[in-house]
Amino acid sequence: MIRHLLPFVFLLTTATTLLAQSIPLKPRPDAFPPVDAPDGAKAVVNMATTVAEMSDWDRYPTYETYLAMMQGWAEEFPTLCHIDTIGTSVNGRLILSMYIQVQTVDDLYRPEFFYSSTMHGDEVTGYVMMLRLIDTLLHGYGSNPQYTDIINSTRISINPLSNPDGAYRTGNNSVRYAMRYNANYVDLNRNYPDPFGTDPEDVQQPENTAMINYLSSHNFRLSANLHGGSEVMNYPWDSFTSSENPHPDREWWIEVCKRFVDTSRTYSNSHFRDVLNSGYIEGGDWYVIPNGRQDYVNYYHNCREMTMEISSDKTINSDQLPEYWRFLQHSLVNYISEIHTINSSVAIETTESESSVLRFYPNPTHDKVFLCNMPTEPISIYNMQGQCVMQLPACTQLIDLQSLSQGIYLLRSGSQTAKVVKR
Ligand SMILES: [Zn+2]
Repeated sequence: MIRHLLPFVFLLTTATTLLAQSIPLKPRPDAFPPVDAPDGAKAVVNMATTVAEMSDWDRYPTYETYLAMMQGWAEEFPTLCHIDTIGTSVNGRLILSMYIQVQTVDDLYRPEFFYSSTMHGDEVTGYVMMLRLIDTLLHGYGSNPQYTDIINSTRISINPLSNPDGAYRTGNNSVRYAMRYNANYVDLNRNYPDPFGTDPEDVQQPENTAMINYLSSHNFRLSANLHGGSEVMNYPWDSFTSSENPHPDREWWIEVCKRFVDTSRTYSNSHFRDVLNSGYIEGGDWYVIPNGRQDYVNYYHNCREMTMEISSDKTINSDQLPEYWRFLQHSLVNYISEIHTINSSVAIETTESESSVLRFYPNPTHDKVFLCNMPTEPISIYNMQGQCVMQLPACTQLIDLQSLSQGIYLLRSGSQTAKVVKR
């Protein structure tokens, strides 16, 4: 029923640019699982059986090559990254994430970002894009100012392959016959707890249990979940149309989507047009889906997650991979920085029990604040990007904030914290 009503509701309620549209939207690949042969069976899929064969980024890695690449980065950049094992798949393959962070004292005050790709095993463009992103960020740290700044201000976790059994359905040597589902033939993007609907049809799959545990053990503030089969930025909610229940951060999402698409179009104007010319859409306006990951993450983890559909074909020819990287790389990097455009009260959380609050007055202040109790540990002041902007010795009782620009800052002394507003 909904399926037939939605296009009608959609046309009635969305922007005027959409009203002009007379043809139906391209079916959402998420909503219409394929029944024919996998995309990859039609694609020219060259595999890299060694890490060296990935040097031109025009092949897909075998499973062993993938593991070797991850291991190689962890060994080459031991102070910059480590491998998180999110869990294992039904068939025992590893679900890994590369965690990139610089180790300094203000570590915990950097917001955490998460990229995750290929929960549909045959949507492998994002798999290689994420591997290349890891490589680019790690090698660019210290030489490329943008990458250096992003890593200095953000903790970044990148999970290139969240459904390895689907991607390597016929064996570790090829993704050519990859499938959407996991080894139990369950669609992992219909298998998350639904904040607004009913429980999934199938028992929770090991891949998703592992992902839920990983999400729960972190404090991600922004994430994206990469797919293929269309080219469109799909922002929450998936459970509702925008007219039924718009996401509270809808305006922010639209700005983020525009920036992503605009940037990619400066490198290739032909992409992100196969659903809407704008290149972005609210998920439910495209098609309502239940038990998806995006709404789960947004609702239960206080983390803004969107679904990026990045290639019209789920499995592109391997020699097209460099071209996709060319028009996506800047948008993918910039999207990480969007974490710093999120309302600061969400980006940094403090637990304010009686004993953990640093007491001072006045607040807000134009310049000085006086601490009510003399702190016994040094004081650090952080901006909302998590950067330490001032350090003071223990026993300080008067702090002059005159040199800081207007905004919200976090004061920390030992385990005591407090927010101060500088006017
Ligand atoms: Zn998908």
